[in-house]
Amino acid sequence: MEDYGRYDKSKSELTLQKGVSNCGQKVDLWWLWTSIIQAIYGIQTDGLYPQVKKGCTGTWAQINRSIFYIHAQHPNVSNILSKRISNGKNSLFWLDNWLGDTPFRDKFPRLFALEMDKSCTVFDRRSHDGWKWVWRRDIRPGVELQQLQELTAAINSVVFSDALDSWLCQGLPNGLFSVSRIRKLIDASPMGCWPTHWCKVIPPNINFFIWRARLNRLPDKCSLIDKGVNLQNVLCSSCNKHGEDLTHIFFECDVASQVWTNIASWLDLVLPVW
Ligand SMILES: [Zn+2]
Repeated sequence: MEDYGRYDKSKSELTLQKGVSNCGQKVDLWWLWTSIIQAIYGIQTDGLYPQVKKGCTGTWAQINRSIFYIHAQHPNVSNILSKRISNGKNSLFWLDNWLGDTPFRDKFPRLFALEMDKSCTVFDRRSHDGWKWVWRRDIRPGVELQQLQELTAAINSVVFSDALDSWLCQGLPNGLFSVSRIRKLIDASPMGCWPTHWCKVIPPNINFFIWRARLNRLPDKCSLIDKGVNLQNVLCSSCNKHGEDLTHIFFECDVASQVWTNIASWLDLVLPVW
C-alpha cells in the first residue's frame, strides 16, 4: 500500500498517489476491494447473498459457495449476520439485513418486485428530505401501498452518520464477529457432523492432511486419473498389486496393515477388524 498511496487505518480510506488513480483521490477500501472482486468473479446480487458466476474458481469462489452451502444446511447461521447502518453506502437496501431480523426483500416482496435497481444501497434510497424510490410503475392502493407505508414507518426512525457501515453478529458480545464463536455455532448445528476446528495436539500439517483425507481430496492415483491426469497405471505405489485409492492406502495395503499392526503392538491395543 505504501508504494501506491497513504492508508488511513482509522477511516479505512486509501489515498492513491498521482499517476495511480485520479490524482490523490480518496478511495473507500471496502468499495475498492468489492470492485476488484466483482471484476474478477462477476458477483451477482439477484439473491439474498452475492453469488459468483458459474464456472468461476479460486479462493473467493470457494468461500462464496461455502456460504451458500452453510445457509442451505442451516439458515440460522447466516441469519445472525446483519449490518450496522452508518452512512448506508456499503449496505444493500433490499438484500442486506440492516433493520429488524429480515431483509426487506423478504419482508416486502411486492415492493421488491417493483424496484428497478434491486442491488441499490441504503444510501441510494436516501434523499435530503426523506427517501427516493425508483419503481417500475406507480404504487397501487392495497397491498403495495400498505407495504410502502410499513416500510417507510420502519426506516424513518433510522439515524445516519458519516461513518462506514459495519457487520454485526447478533447474539455475540458487542456484536463483534468472531470466527471461533461462529465455528462453535456451526459445530453445534445439525450440519456440524464435521468439526471445523483443528486438533491442537498434532501439528497443523497433519491436521490439514487428515482433513483432506476425510474429504477424499488426497492426490492418490485413482483420484488423479479421475481428474484427467495421464498416469501409466493406478496400481498402489507401495505394493504394486491393487488400485491406489484412499481406502487402500490407509487400510487395505499390506504396508498400511503392517504399520497399523506395529502401532497396535507399541500401544498394546487390539486392532479392530476392517
Ligand atoms: Zn498397496
